[in-house]
Parts: sequence; C-alpha cells; structure tokens
Amino acid sequence: MKFYVPEWEDAVDARYDFVHDELSNLDKQERERHFIWDIFDYETTPIDGVLISREQVEDSQRKYDRVTEHGVYDDPQLTIPDWLPTISDCGAWGYKSLPFPRYGNDDMLEFYEALDVTVGVTIDHLVLGSGKEKGRLYLDKHAFHPDFTESDLPEELTEQVDIMVDEWPAEWPDLVERYDDSIYGVSAVKPFTHKDFEGSVQGVLQRMDRDPRAVYREDDKQDRYEMTLENAAEIRELYDNGDWSFHLMAAFQGWNPTTYGEALDEVLEMGYQYVGIGGVAGSQLKQVEEIVTEVGHRITEFESEHETRIDTHVFGFAKTDGFETVGRAQMSSIDSASMLRAAWTGGNNYHLNPDERFDAIRVRYPKPGDSLEIAVKKSMLGQEVLHALRAFDDEDSISRRTRGWYAEADLVLDALVDYLEEHRHDEIYDARLLRKITSEFRDDFEYGCELQASFSDDLRKQLVKLLRVDDADDPVDFDEYIEIINTGREVAEGFPRTADRVEALEEKSGEMATFKQVWTVLENYAVSDLVDDQNLLEGYRKTLRSRPWDRCDCPICEDLGIEVAIFRGNNRNRRRGFHNTYRFYQQFKRDLPKILIVAPADSSLFGRNTVEGYLTDMYGELWDAVHDIPVAEIGVLDANGVHEWWEPGPSSVSLDPSGISEELERKAGRYDTILYYDPDGEARFDIDSVEIVEDPQEVRGRTLERLGYDSDPVPSRDIQIQLGEF
Ligand SMILES: [Zn+2]
Repeated sequence: MKFYVPEWEDAVDARYDFVHDELSNLDKQERERHFIWDIFDYETTPIDGVLISREQVEDSQRKYDRVTEHGVYDDPQLTIPDWLPTISDCGAWGYKSLPFPRYGNDDMLEFYEALDVTVGVTIDHLVLGSGKEKGRLYLDKHAFHPDFTESDLPEELTEQVDIMVDEWPAEWPDLVERYDDSIYGVSAVKPFTHKDFEGSVQGVLQRMDRDPRAVYREDDKQDRYEMTLENAAEIRELYDNGDWSFHLMAAFQGWNPTTYGEALDEVLEMGYQYVGIGGVAGSQLKQVEEIVTEVGHRITEFESEHETRIDTHVFGFAKTDGFETVGRAQMSSIDSASMLRAAWTGGNNYHLNPDERFDAIRVRYPKPGDSLEIAVKKSMLGQEVLHALRAFDDEDSISRRTRGWYAEADLVLDALVDYLEEHRHDEIYDARLLRKITSEFRDDFEYGCELQASFSDDLRKQLVKLLRVDDADDPVDFDEYIEIINTGREVAEGFPRTADRVEALEEKSGEMATFKQVWTVLENYAVSDLVDDQNLLEGYRKTLRSRPWDRCDCPICEDLGIEVAIFRGNNRNRRRGFHNTYRFYQQFKRDLPKILIVAPADSSLFGRNTVEGYLTDMYGELWDAVHDIPVAEIGVLDANGVHEWWEPGPSSVSLDPSGISEELERKAGRYDTILYYDPDGEARFDIDSVEIVEDPQEVRGRTLERLGYDSDPVPSRDIQIQLGEF
C-alpha cells in the first residue's frame, strides 16, 4: 500500500530563524525551500508518492510554465526525488461547479507527458446530488453584472433548482459539443436580464436548456457519472494509439456502492489496470467502507477470472480507522492532506497518535492595520511567552530567560539611535526597493533581527521607509526616527510582565521550569486584552503537561522541540503538518505493513511488453499464488531496481549481483518485509527484513499472516462493517 500526499506548495524556509522569526532571505526566489521529501531522508520520508493536480499547478502561470517545461522530477523548485512515484490528475474539486470538466482528453495526455509523472488519471467529474426537486441549473458568471446579480434570480427558481454559478472557460473541450451544443463554440455571452427569468419555473428551465449561458439538468448525477466513463473510454483509445511514458489510471465515480461497482466494471472492461475511486473525500467512514468493499469484491472476481492484477487508488481518503477495510478490500494506494492541514485548521493541531492530539499554542503576530503601538505591544507579549516556552522546554529558569530577553530588547533601542545617527545616509540605503533596504538594514545593524522580533515588523518597516527617503542633500528630521523609537520605549516600560511572579515561584519550589511557572506566563499572555485566547487555555494545559514533542522521534521535533507545538506562521505550522504526516505514516505502516514481493530478473526481461507478461511466463506458480492478494507490491528485481508488475519491460537489464544486493538493501529501508522468491534456492542475501522463500504458497501465506488476514482477505459484503475504535 502506498500513501500519496497532494502537492499544494507545501514548503518551508530551509534556514528559517525561529528565534527572531525571520526568513532566511526576503527574496522568495533566493530562498532555499524544503518540501517534506527534503526534510526526511529516504528511509523515513513519510510518504510513498506525490499527487499533483492540474488545477493546483494552474494556480500560478509561472509554476505551470516551469513544471511543463522541466517535468516534476527536474523542476528547480519541486525537486521531487526520482524514487517517489507521482500521480497527476485534473483536480476535479476545482471545477465541481462547472457543468463540464474544463479539460479535454488530448490535452490531458500532453500535460501528463510534459510533467513526466508516473501515473496520469482520466478526467472525472464529481458526482454531486442537487438536493433540489428540479435538479440543477448552471449559469455562466460572465453573464451577471451589477444590474442583474445572483440575488436577482427569482426565489421560486432557487427554491426548486440547485444553482451553480462559476466563470466558464473561454473554450470548452470537444466532448461538450456532444452533450450540449448550445454552449459549445460560443465566443461572447450576452448579459442576463430580468426578462430571462420571467414566467413559470418550468418555462425558464426550458428556455435555459437552449441558452448559451446556461446548462440545465434534471438528473445531474447521472450525467456526471456518464461523462466520467465516456472520458475514460475516449482517453483510453487515444492512449493506446500513442506512445506515452506514463501509466494511465481510470478515475470513476458513483453515488452508492452499486453505481461505483458498475462504473468499475466498465473501466475494467476498457482495459485499465489501475483504477481510482473518486468523490469520497469528506464522506462518512461507513459509506467509504461500503464502497471500497464492493469495489474490492468486484476486483477480486475480475482478477480471478482474468488471472491478472488490478491496482486501486482511493482519492482523498486516509482515515486510520478505515485501514482494516481499505487493506482487506485490496486497495493499493490512498492520498490525503488532512493531517497536514490539521496543523493549522481548528484545534488538535499536533498529532501524536490517533487518540493523542494536542492544541498547538497560539502566539500571535500583530494584524495588518494595527497601530504601531498595538503592533509593538503584541510583539513584546509574544516574545515574553516565546522565551518562557523555550526555557520550559530546555528546563531552564523562565524568569532568567525572560529578563535576559528584556535586557537585550532595551539595548537594541539605544544601539539603534547610535546606528541611525551614524549610518542613515549610507549608500546601502539608496536602493529603491523596500525589500532591499530591509535586507541591508537587517544585515548591517547588529540588532536588525532582534529589533523586528521584539518591536514588530511594523516598527522596522517604518524606519526602513524613512531610511529610503532620507538622504544627505535633503535629510529627514531626525526626530521622526526618535518618535518611532519612543513608541517602542514606552511600550517596553510595561515589560517584562511576569518575571517577578515566576521568580517567586522558582524560589519557593527550588525548581526550574515547572508547569506552574510556565503557566503563569502563558495564562497572562492568553488572557491579555490584545490576545483574548482564554478559551484555548484548557487545551494548552494538556499540551504543556504532556510535552508531546519530547515523545516524537521525527527530525523536526528533535531539532526544534517546542517550536513545533507553537501555532505561529508558515514555518512552524507547516513543519507541524509534516510532523503530523510522519505520525500518520507510522500508524499506516503498523496497520498496513509494507510488503514487497520480488522475483529475480533474467536477461529475457529485456524487451518484454510488460513485467506482468514476464511474471506469468517465468513464474506462473508465483503469479497464481499472489496476483490477487491485497496491499503487497509485486515486481521483478534487477540491479536497476524493482520493476513493478504493471510496468512495460525495461529497456536494459543488469544482473550484476552486488548491484542487486544493494538495491535490495536500499528497498529494505522502506519495507517492513521483502519476500524474495527464489525457486531454485540459489539466493544468498543476508539483509534484515529480506526473507528468501522457495515455495509460492509460502509467499502468499507469509504475506497474509504478516497482514493479519486469513486466507480470504476481502471482507464479506454481508458483514456489518465494524467501526474503528479511535
Ligand atoms: Zn515530530
């Protein structure tokens, strides 16, 4: 089983300064960015692949141009390592309110080829019920205008019909002509008027049916279902007649187990060997379990009838309590970003285990629009609590650390006056770009970063703006600088707020960094008027008492400690998302042990049409024994690596024994078990987690045993599915 993560520009600054909350470089193009695969090494990377949606790529023209030029593996920004497979799809959620997918089949094939992904997915359209008696009406947003807005649509209509308004593309793909020629090839749309929506609802809908600005469907579900299948059939034909470097997966949709099952039968009939269940993201666990169980049954039947193997992906699903069903139902891969996104949406942001989740501690930045005084106050409040939290993590004196911070902050303002007097007319401040001047100031003034951390980015920005206009021929009144600096001084007089109380607690207990001491600072912070987070305190109590970051062995928690449990900006929050993904992946590997079945290659693998053909010819008994078992990945091994069962035969085969051994050793780093099939009993490997097996039935038996499944792994359709206990 493989776990994919959707790619949504989830990157952090590789050399972020956590102490001062400063980016390594203010110029985004110059910053070294780390994606999840950059942070972990080969063995511990908590994903098995990356899912790239066209909708997401097209979010930025620059990104689209870049990845279609270089491909995802050679892209200078993404730098996905070669060993991580990639799936690309359209991103059906992105166009769900359009009457048709915005892409055409020819176009998608070209796109996947340009991206150089491992797998490309057929074009699907989410099956969404309308919930309204008369179905669904799609309207082109371009036809609305200030004199006729969406709220001018008659109530009688909106009550009976589900209305979806979106900006329609300038050009629809070819398939649309067959479905609705009234909207196809339309170059400009006339604006809607009240007259268009006058009369009976039935009359309006009849008119809209032929209108180039509208699509009306009584049963939209059925249409979306059918066009998804039609796209799968059409792209299959184009794919089979072309020469493409990626594997094609059919996405299919439905609205209950039976319709999913029927759609599956159709795509299997078309010759697909990798299929994807779409449209279940966000569905109830039980519904998803019923769907995957039905799909699993039909796949098993198909596999046994055709003596082949089918891989199945579940899009947007990775609930840990569904693993048992998903595994037994033979699913091959899943994807989800929910554990990543949970790091910065709602509470329970820091995940340790499914039943141990913690609220990250919010230390807030000033908001845009805050006055300078408020911005400085919020920064100082934040710094006081950050220093206390770090001291708590380091088991150091909290009062000493907060006082130390305060003393330095005080020093910064004095040093700042001296610095400005001496350097305000320096050449480095002649640049036009604020960003450039900020960079220069940050590097040149000894406390440039400390100034921002303690007294806000706003204060530093105001000084930088003055530096830009200030020149020797036409100097700025120095009092203007002093006025800004004095705002900092006045606010600083109210700090540190808690050091005395914490010190008293330290003296009384004779201990440092107790919960009570850190709580004094955090509570004072959270209840202050400018923060107003007292409702979060209960959650924080649990976080600080449990210190979950101490119990995580991921490199992020090991390097950064408590910073990972602080809710503050992309560089902490997204790293916590990577950590959550790692925790998720540990559970995933425990529940669905990663098992690889390999057979040795010989020179006749070269030039084969498919690895499957080679396996059935050379290792028929093994194939019979394992082609239908869930979870395991199956392939042939040579010194170049594992060639998975569905791949075309490789263009070269290397039988170098030390190379083969190295490949096995490398793979062993990511698999729980590798079962090496060796019918002749000749293999000599001594690698942890590589088991050499001579009997095909033994390979099957050990796989099922390892997974904890009996001889018939797919659960019965009639069994009441047990909900998980989490
Ligand atoms: Zn961690």
